[in-house]
Amino acid sequence: MTLYALTGTPGTGKTSLSNELRSRGYNVIDGKEHIKANGLLGELDAERDTHEVDLDLLNDSLQEYRDSPDLYLIDSHLSHFMDCSGIIVLRCHPDILADRLRARGYGENKVCENVQSEVLDVILCEATESDIPVWEIDCSHDDIPVSADSIEEILKGKSDDYVPGKTDWSLEMDKWF
Ligand code: ADP
Ligand code: MN
Repeated sequence: MTLYALTGTPGTGKTSLSNELRSRGYNVIDGKEHIKANGLLGELDAERDTHEVDLDLLNDSLQEYRDSPDLYLIDSHLSHFMDCSGIIVLRCHPDILADRLRARGYGENKVCENVQSEVLDVILCEATESDIPVWEIDCSHDDIPVSADSIEEILKGKSDDYVPGKTDWSLEMDKWF
């Protein structure tokens, strides 16, 4: 199995980096498209403004990629819940993340909810709950090609620089809670 999860809070850069990696010849599954194409998009949770997705069914639907001899990445904020070879968690400084999400047209509640999740390392914590290797890349400042180079280093096994725990947004806590 060579399936890598590319995960992170919305706005950290999953889709931008997926596009960059595709242009470099990597196979990257668009999680949203895959979920829709496989009929896995569940009920809208109006309060959270997200659709429910059955994680077990999503995991099963990825089997063809695990069985493939080729390397795949999957771009999804749910990808770290999947059985995979490794998990790459993208991170972004809270202020920069807030700007990116506002630029996307998110309302202040949704901006705040996502930034709080980033400040609390929610996805990183979820990712490290499994025995799957986890890496972390700070995508706040570097440009997209530089961050894509980091992902390539991880995929090639040169991953010591990306052990989790280097990003720490705890000093930003007061501002968002
Ligand atoms: P996601 O798919 O995680 O929600 P997107 O890729 O849609 O994130 O949005 C990330 C935004 O941040 C884009 O506007 C992108 O141009 C910008 N950005 C700036 N620097 C980076 C970086 N190093 N890596 C990824 N995205 C970046
Ligand atoms: Mn995206």
